[in-house]
Amino acid sequence: MNIRISSAMTEKAVREDLNVIIIGAGAAGLYAGLSLRKLGISFQILEASDVYGGRLAPLYDFADFQIDLGAQWLHGKNSLLGDIIKQHSIPIKADDSREYFWFRNAITKKPPFNFDIFEDDDLPDLSYTDFARKQGLNADYDGIIEYLAGDLGASASQLSVYHNNREFEEWTSGETNYKFEDTFFDVIDKHVASTIKDAITLNTAALRFDYSKDDVIITDDSGRTHRADKVIITSPVTVLRSGDMEFIPKLPAEKISVFSKLGMEAAIKIYLRFSERFYHETTLGGKVCAAYIDERYGKKGDDNVLLAYLMGEQAEKLMALGNDNKMTQAILKELDRMYDGKASRHFEAARIKNWTAHPWIRGGYSYSTCGMGNARQVAAKPVSGKLYFAGEAMNTKGHHQSVHGAMESGLRAVVEIVGEVQG
Ligand SMILES: Cc1cc2nc3c(=O)[nH]c(=O)nc-3n(C[C@H](O)[C@H](O)[C@H](O)COP(=O)(O)OP(=O)(O)OC[C@H]3O[C@@H](n4cnc5c(N)ncnc54)[C@H](O)[C@@H]3O)c2cc1C
Repeated sequence: MNIRISSAMTEKAVREDLNVIIIGAGAAGLYAGLSLRKLGISFQILEASDVYGGRLAPLYDFADFQIDLGAQWLHGKNSLLGDIIKQHSIPIKADDSREYFWFRNAITKKPPFNFDIFEDDDLPDLSYTDFARKQGLNADYDGIIEYLAGDLGASASQLSVYHNNREFEEWTSGETNYKFEDTFFDVIDKHVASTIKDAITLNTAALRFDYSKDDVIITDDSGRTHRADKVIITSPVTVLRSGDMEFIPKLPAEKISVFSKLGMEAAIKIYLRFSERFYHETTLGGKVCAAYIDERYGKKGDDNVLLAYLMGEQAEKLMALGNDNKMTQAILKELDRMYDGKASRHFEAARIKNWTAHPWIRGGYSYSTCGMGNARQVAAKPVSGKLYFAGEAMNTKGHHQSVHGAMESGLRAVVEIVGEVQG
């Protein structure tokens, strides 16, 4: 992603009374704020929940090392976030954990089939499930296919092989995943949020956007109004398509329709602490949960914590059980099958983070659906020179689904605003 705040931008004065409001204090909103501050442009951030960070959130009191309840891996370091990491010498460690597979009731080291079949150029616009069937992979392979799709935030029945490849063709940040010594949240807190905290107003949900005149009047959930010349909206697509944010006049019909073409499904992370480490670094392909990951791997600590990472239909099924205890028991039962009853024997405690239940996030991250066409480009387009769209789902350069992609989208919205006001 080549967007940068250029020296020409900083030198050319922007109208002194220009006022920007950013909706949402996740990675996109925070980085948009930091970029505006660098340009000397006045702004405030309205955040619906009682914390900033959005899909970045720390868990400090569960283990003798720090955990991320949301984003935890840095996906490649060739990005503006990678630049921050280099500039501040933030310690990161490549995640080279080995993959093991739960296949036909046994754990194997060898992948049950060659995953490259999903990555060829020019594949049809079919879901992962339908494409797998065409390749002769029967229901035995479903857990593994669910893992591949879940890693991309989707149910296998919803993720398009064609559009997923097409969208990720532009991925440039690198293929290696890294872990932070502390948490991803703390890195963003210290190096992005810290200097702009004064501009964040928490517990303030923006419900109504009247952009029928020269400016935008936002009404929040307490009935207060806020005036802005330009608004950067970083709400996730789940929120945008819900209709819970009212626009006057209505957003263009084409834009409203593409919000539903961007996938974003349920997401749950369950952390389980055990008295013994009986599991592998990763165990992929479970029918209840397709990805079990040793959370301590790459961290400094002694506690045995296993992450159960559930996306899409698997997350929905687990939520349908109704309460945390039943959800934990379902996970333990599957682990017992994989590891001869050791999970129940060594179980100490669980902590569940259900991102679907967050009232202003409502799921995991955006992905490529069958028939989506250029939905992401249309969704990201500004409206009337007053409303600008950012957030991970609005990254049109292949970095959607990521923290650095969210930050890039926030910067892109700022560059669009400055480009327009400077002419
Ligand atoms: C379980 C999980 C694991 C992940 N793992 C990784 C990973 O390892 N690495 C990685 O790079 N990425 C990962 N991601 C994705 C990454 O977290 C996101 O791409 C990124 O954090 C999104 O930032 P954002 O600013 O676009 O959105 P968000 O973080 O969702 O921020 C949007 C904010 O807007 C607020 N908001 C919404 N509507 C309103 C409104 N009307 N008024 C006021 N406030 C509003 C919300 O409360 C929220 O705080 C993961 C995500 C999840 C859920």
